[in-house]
Formats: sequence, C-alpha cells, structure tokens
Amino acid sequence: MLDFNSKGQAGDQITALIDEALVAERAAMPPRDYLGGSRLGVACDRALQFEFVGAPKDDGADVDGQTLRIFEIGHTLEDLAIRWLRAAGFDLYTRKGNRPDGDQFGFSVAGGRIRGHVDGILASGPAVTGMAFPALWECKTMNAKTWRETVAKGVVVAKSVYAVQIALYQAYMAADVPGIADSPALFTAINKDTAELHHELVPFDAARAQTASDRAVRILRATDAGDLLPRVATSRDFHECRFCAWAGRCWELPA
Ligand code: SF4
Repeated sequence: MLDFNSKGQAGDQITALIDEALVAERAAMPPRDYLGGSRLGVACDRALQFEFVGAPKDDGADVDGQTLRIFEIGHTLEDLAIRWLRAAGFDLYTRKGNRPDGDQFGFSVAGGRIRGHVDGILASGPAVTGMAFPALWECKTMNAKTWRETVAKGVVVAKSVYAVQIALYQAYMAADVPGIADSPALFTAINKDTAELHHELVPFDAARAQTASDRAVRILRATDAGDLLPRVATSRDFHECRFCAWAGRCWELPA
C-alpha cells in the first residue's frame, strides 16, 4: 500500500509533481509588461521598477508551488463570493457581457503601460445603508490574522495597498462606467480559515488615486530615462527589504 504520510514517500512526491507542474505553467506564461494598478500601493518605487522591467529575481525568490496554490485558492474563493453576492440579490458584472468567456473589466492607460483588471462592477442591489450604484467591487482572501486586523482597522489602515488599488480603479474606470467614482466601492474580505466575511464601503479618495497615478508616471519616466529609482529604506533590515525578491540586486546597486 502507498504510504501517504511518511515524509519523502508517495504523498510528498505527488505534491512535488503538482508544484512542478504549477511552476512550469507559470513559467510558460508571458511576463507582465505593464505596471499593474494592484501594485501601485506597494512601498518601494525601486521594487516596482524592478517588477515593471522584469528584472531577474534573487536566487530562491521566484514564486514556488505552494504560493501558486495559495493564489489559485484565493481566485476560487473569489468566484464563490461572486456567487454569494448574486444570491443575495446584487447585480454583479465580472466580465464584459456577463459571459464566462467575456473579457474582464479593466483599464489600460499610458499606451497600455499601466493596466488593471477589476473584480467586478455592481450595477444594482438590495437597499444597503450607504451603498449606491454603479459601484466597484474588490475582493480579497486573507488568513485569519490579517482578516481580523482588516475588520478592526478597516482596509485603508490595515491594507493600504488595497485601498490604493480601489481608489485608482475607481478613477480609471470612471471613463467606461460613469458614476462609479461617485459611489463607495464595496470591499469584500474572506477569512480563508473560517469563511467569515467582511464587507466594507470605501468612498472614493481622489487624492489617493492621483498620488498612485503620479507615481506610476514617475516610474515609467525614470525607466524610460534609464534612471534607477531610490530605495524605500536606508538599511537592508527594513521590513519591505527582508521580503523583497530583488534585495540582493538592489543593495549591490547605488542608493
Ligand atoms: S530591497 Fe528594499 S529598497 Fe530595494 S527594491 Fe526591495 S524593497 Fe526596495
């Protein structure tokens, strides 16, 4: 009988085969050649620049199979959240024409060098205090600790990267969906450990969107000019740097 428990036996081998397949799948995908709106709230300009130009990551910093599985589980949970919101009576559009094979809603500016894909647009729904339509819908899945922090502090304080994404998407989607920036966005956070839901209405913050947009332009201009953007930190021990996939490259280059 196959042993699915012992380390180094069948179970581990199967997991390794799955991870190998997922990593190969990802490697076969064309690299992203634009600045993603979902990334423009990260702390470091230089890290964003490395990401934009596709600078090779440090050894061992590439996304592994387990992380890819976490991403995919997140996407699947987001599909469930779509189902749940629709079941609750919200008219939620996630793809053009609301067809499964339709393109995702999104925006593309600066000649396609800044882009974003939105999770959904709420066209109508039940009467909920403070809600108006059309509204941007953004969904994230989180572990219990991050979810609790988001519930306690709100997305703007607990997860500012998401708040920047929401503001930017509201601003850029307004051309295609008039009125979307006049309504608060609906932010849904799913606790992956307990299936608890957090829903939060996020009013449009024009200043936050403008700051992110200006930042994107700064990164594009610096890259076009061949200028290396400054580090976010003065020490490699800084929190962002400890988790940065380009830390080795970064700290060998000038400040
Ligand atoms: S190591 Fe730190 S300063 Fe350098 S790119 Fe990464 S986050 Fe930015």
